[in-house]
Amino acid sequence: MGETIAILNQKGGCGKTTTAVNLSTALALNNKRVLLIDIDPQGNATTSFGIPKSEIEKTIYTTLTGKNPVEEAIIPTGIDRLDLVASNIALSGAEIELSGEIGFHSILNERLENIKDSYDYILIDVPPSLGVLTINSLVASDSVIIPIQAEFYALEGMADLMEAMKLVGNRLNSPCNIKGILLTLYDSRTRLGRDVYENVKEYFGEKENIFEISIPRNVKLAEAPSHGKPGVLYDEECKGSTAYMELAEEIIAMEAAK
Ligand code: ADP
Ligand code: MG
Repeated sequence: MGETIAILNQKGGCGKTTTAVNLSTALALNNKRVLLIDIDPQGNATTSFGIPKSEIEKTIYTTLTGKNPVEEAIIPTGIDRLDLVASNIALSGAEIELSGEIGFHSILNERLENIKDSYDYILIDVPPSLGVLTINSLVASDSVIIPIQAEFYALEGMADLMEAMKLVGNRLNSPCNIKGILLTLYDSRTRLGRDVYENVKEYFGEKENIFEISIPRNVKLAEAPSHGKPGVLYDEECKGSTAYMELAEEIIAMEAAK
């Protein structure tokens, strides 16, 4: 069975979507079968593939609210071995709609049950909050990748995130490991970049994995979505792309070492 990984951090702008889009593409380029689930009402991951989000009828929203099975919401991205479940603004009402249902924390997990065998990796691009959609993503996932932007407030809110993960593990009996902490928008030449890296190492200590590779600040990664392409395909040679390709290799090597 494949592994389901949530890309999570309740902070906005720390590189979750960029990581979800580029890592899922990089894994697919490494011959893995990948499904990316966009569960952010902003639908930025969907747009990153040049998919017109408002025109898609069967999305993560219609799937979560029981209007269709997830199989019907899976659409091709045009990239071999990479599929997508799209999102759009309709999802913004889902938090309220879902929270009225019994067992609402586990709805995503239940919806994904039938398709987990069809993929090597299912990645979930999570919205910047610790609300119902994020808790659903945690319950559905085996592990999380936490992108941390190398900036002064990098670790602010991290205690709340750890608490949410603990709650899901204990109260909902659905433990979820940290697959790794990923430094994003990183510049090793600056003092700030290096300081944040040291702080992150100190905070997580020896017990959590910090990925070897950090993602540099790279303008090509930021430009790519407006061309409807993941950065790793928009410019294969740029530093940002090679970093995401290395991240994919690191993740595949973890699986092999199990
Ligand atoms: P989140 O999903 O956490 O809100 P995004 O992935 O959307 O974060 O990134 C926020 C902004 O920063 C976007 O405009 C994105 O293009 C840009 N960005 C993300 N990662 C990088 C990077 N490594 N280098 C340059 N720009 C980046
Ligand atoms: Mg995002």
